[in-house]
Amino acid sequence: MKIAIFANKRAKSQAVKKKLYQKFVERHFVIDDKEPDVVVTIGGDGTLLSAFHHYEDKLEQVRFVGVHTGHLGFYTDWRDDEIDDLVISLQSDNRQSISYPLLEVSVKYADSPRRERYLALNESTLKRNSATMVTDVYIGGELFERFRGDGLCVSTPTGSTAYNKSLGGAVVHPNLEVLQIAEIGSINNRVFRTLSSPMIVAPNDWITFRPGKGSDFVLTVDSESYHNRQICEIQYKVSKKRIYFAKYRHTHFWRRVQDAFIGTEDENRMDL
Ligand code: NAD
Repeated sequence: MKIAIFANKRAKSQAVKKKLYQKFVERHFVIDDKEPDVVVTIGGDGTLLSAFHHYEDKLEQVRFVGVHTGHLGFYTDWRDDEIDDLVISLQSDNRQSISYPLLEVSVKYADSPRRERYLALNESTLKRNSATMVTDVYIGGELFERFRGDGLCVSTPTGSTAYNKSLGGAVVHPNLEVLQIAEIGSINNRVFRTLSSPMIVAPNDWITFRPGKGSDFVLTVDSESYHNRQICEIQYKVSKKRIYFAKYRHTHFWRRVQDAFIGTEDENRMDL
């Protein structure tokens, strides 16, 4: 098995990386950062997001394993003090995996005849810096509304607990191959109207934004942002590609949501 270790720059993550590297060498794993079968990330969800984009062209051959050096993350199942168990799991690997849907973002810029494509694990947002963002929103090719406000966020099911949740979006189980649109600061009054609710879009539908003129829109894809180009159209679809995680242990999705946002400590419970 060929393994890559992808750690963030924090001292703690670098120390865990060094320890893990030694264990892999002792057990004769092949360390291969270019063509790995398994990518072990060390850090948090942000590190996993960076690793995902680093290995974006190899998603069919790569499975990810997330080790967290801080709080339990949404993509990181292993604590840094559990790396011995992780090494044992990797040694008895039976190629089991769990996969999640991704978001395909296809952008037509005014300055290029070719569409540019991006892949998001969490979400993509469109915002405008200098003025109200105005964009027509189409669902399945049909005009749905003209949006005015700060921006819009289109998220994957696993991204539904990230930015989308801060915007009042629903938490979506990742077995559902759907996309969600959430508004960022929409303007609603007697003149301008949007739905003002998050929307969950069916698997075969696609979402299109056709923004008004201006080159000060900001397009984000997970942690990346793209500025200063006039956007004619953005199309969002559930991608045919998926992300695969090695399934040595599996935290039940709603348990993970509970752990992250509510807490499971008994002292948090009050008698009814
Ligand atoms: P980061 O590492 O500081 O991440 C920000 C926070 O988002 C962290 O606490 C991380 O654990 C959490 N997070 C990331 N993915 C998550 C997921 N799928 N479910 C639940 N929590 C998740 O910053 P970064 O590395 O640049 O991460 C980029 C992400 O930050 C974006 O994809 C976006 O989802 C999130 N973000 C959130 C807000 C917000 O909530 N207002 C604003 C901007 C970006």
